[in-house]
Amino acid sequence: MSNRSIGLDDRLYHYLLGHSLREPEVLADLRAETANLPEANMQIAPEQGQFMALLARLMGARRYLEIGTFTGYSALAIALALPEDGEVVTLDRSAQWIATARRYWERAGVSGRIRLEQGEAQDSLRALERNGETGRFDLSFIDADKTSYPDYFEHCLRLVRPGGLILIDNTLWHGRVADAQDSRDNTRAIRDFNAALHHDERIDLALTPIGDGLTLARRR
Ligand code: CA
Repeated sequence: MSNRSIGLDDRLYHYLLGHSLREPEVLADLRAETANLPEANMQIAPEQGQFMALLARLMGARRYLEIGTFTGYSALAIALALPEDGEVVTLDRSAQWIATARRYWERAGVSGRIRLEQGEAQDSLRALERNGETGRFDLSFIDADKTSYPDYFEHCLRLVRPGGLILIDNTLWHGRVADAQDSRDNTRAIRDFNAALHHDERIDLALTPIGDGLTLARRR
């Protein structure tokens, strides 16, 4: 499951939440509604949303690019951490969850700060580059189809500014990346992606065991 940090037993995980989580009610309600969906495990962990929001504040982020909207939790968590003139651009192939996402963005009063583009992410990313958005994002988050991670990463490297941060989700992939017996497509894709990033001189790197593994790559 990716909607809690991996490798912690129940007791310690509940301690962590009980002693650090500061989830606004609107995010808690969105998470509760999302938990009823069959795709609920695509929801990021609340402590991960809080960590990402802290990173956004820490770096004074104003523009955030997200690949994979789902029901809008991460977009909302970051939107709440941006300044008044901040902007979220979030991309998703599926139209299925847009109404849910928008309902919570409206309720939180930040819908004016969030631009959702529905369609193939590759197309939207290429359009952003064509439209002069290169180097104009402070922070980005990749959380979509795993076999496209290398492509999404290359786009983000161009779209975030030098010193900007690219976050990549699910990089520990339920622990399967370390299981040599597991050769499924998504497992291999993430394993290869992690290996490539390890020696990528264009970035500073940390792979953290937050959520299902959250990689931080700072563009040098
Ligand atoms: Ca994810």
